[in-house]
Amino acid sequence: MKTLCWIRRDLRLHDNHALSQALKFGDTVVAFVFDQNILDKLKNKSDKRVTFIYESLLELDKELQKKGSSLVVRYGTPDEEIPEICKEFKINKVFTNKDYEPYAKKRDELVTKKLKTIGVEFESFKDSVFFEKQEVLTGSGAVYKVFTPYKNKWLEKFEAQDKVIPEFKCDLKKLHHFSNKQNIQEVDWYPLIGFKKDSSPLSGGTSQAFKLLENFEKHMSRYKEERDFPAVPGTSNLSVHIRFGTISLRDMIRAAISKKSEGASTWLSELIWRDFYQMILDTHPYIEKESFKREYDQIKWLGSDEHFQAWCEGRTGFPIVDAAMRCLNETGMMHNRLRMIVASFMCKILLIDWRKGEKYFAEKLLDFDLAANNGGWQWSSSSGCDAQPYFRIFNPYTQSEKFDAQGEFIKKWVPELANASSKEIHRPDGLLFSHYPRPIVSYEANRVRCLEMYSVIKKA
Ligand SMILES: Cc1cc2nc3c(=O)[nH]c(=O)nc-3n(C[C@H](O)[C@H](O)[C@H](O)COP(=O)(O)OP(=O)(O)OC[C@H]3O[C@@H](n4cnc5c(N)ncnc54)[C@H](O)[C@@H]3O)c2cc1C
Repeated sequence: MKTLCWIRRDLRLHDNHALSQALKFGDTVVAFVFDQNILDKLKNKSDKRVTFIYESLLELDKELQKKGSSLVVRYGTPDEEIPEICKEFKINKVFTNKDYEPYAKKRDELVTKKLKTIGVEFESFKDSVFFEKQEVLTGSGAVYKVFTPYKNKWLEKFEAQDKVIPEFKCDLKKLHHFSNKQNIQEVDWYPLIGFKKDSSPLSGGTSQAFKLLENFEKHMSRYKEERDFPAVPGTSNLSVHIRFGTISLRDMIRAAISKKSEGASTWLSELIWRDFYQMILDTHPYIEKESFKREYDQIKWLGSDEHFQAWCEGRTGFPIVDAAMRCLNETGMMHNRLRMIVASFMCKILLIDWRKGEKYFAEKLLDFDLAANNGGWQWSSSSGCDAQPYFRIFNPYTQSEKFDAQGEFIKKWVPELANASSKEIHRPDGLLFSHYPRPIVSYEANRVRCLEMYSVIKKA
């Protein structure tokens, strides 16, 4: 039997469920398709995520070559390319890991159908989440819609397994040996896929993921105290790696449970949030376009395109918001506290539909993940499954004072305020700092407008 392991958002050769299963049969080819359906939609042809993927594939191919094999890379639509690869290598069965996004589910259905016509089997495995939708259910067998009871049940199930997290061993000796003329080390794929290389603040590849994890382990115990302060390197920065699977979720959970500290438990909770949002997207795919709580789609958003543009470009006159947006535009990264501040600000102070901000984040974030991004936006706009109540409106000034007290983060991204004191920086005086934009709206007035705008929910 000859097998194909089709990697997508699991760009690694260790602890990979599909790969471990494929290798049990042996003679395994590993392939990646630069998916035209996804790439063609990316407006920025120097997208940092493409560079991240490319770097990860280069590292992966080097490892495969050490074992006498090589990564098969193609550009096109998977429903055409995967059957082609199968024909070329006389594959009997394709192994892959599950992806719960609506597009991915449709893609896999189509690929399965096409493979059937040429007599090739297709099987997918749980890998990117710890528990799937049917594994964590309420007493009456329903899926949870609120995080805390979900988390408690998740932990209960986890403890019942004696907290043992077996690794999916990948015996690379069983790879198919061949020489690859289209080798990714030799063929420059960037022009072929219509992209240019761009530097990314985080390099791709499993080795980089483990460096980050190792570094984070040194301060994981302080995570609870440090994770909310953007000027402090208190979080792991692993989101892009878990998004593309250069590290496994199990690697991260193993690291969390090996450390017995409050910080480690808090970090584990964040990984459970990730599972929660994946499960919510899997079971409620309509949230990709609509509010989880459907009555929130009755809101008539009052905000303007002009204000949206100012928000995107980091010139709202609210320093913490502008610093966060400028950081995102430049690096593709944004701290979690800042994501909450700018999302809440856009929906509840600029009165703009959450879908616009969600789309902007999807274009810019290095770690963009549909489930987590949608979850974060719907939490911030209050339309989500376990969201903050609609009348809770973050005050950007007090958030700034609390989480960037000295203005260290703001000063890094808003040079116009370099000379502001720690008192002035959160709400600068327009006369003293005339080169910095005046606030485009009044926080106090728009807070009131927001409550009026959201009042349709009470009526619904
Ligand atoms: C509006 C908004 C949009 C967001 N968009 C995304 C996104 O597109 N992709 C993304 O991975 N996260 C998103 N998040 C969640 C969170 O901001 C990031 O996961 C986190 O900032 C990544 O940094 P880190 O790796 O240092 O996280 P750490 O604090 O080290 O957390 C470890 C891991 O847990 C997961 N995680 C942490 N917080 C959350 C959360 N709230 N929801 C789901 N998973 C979480 C991530 O995989 C993260 O890498 C969003 C949050 C908000 C409020």
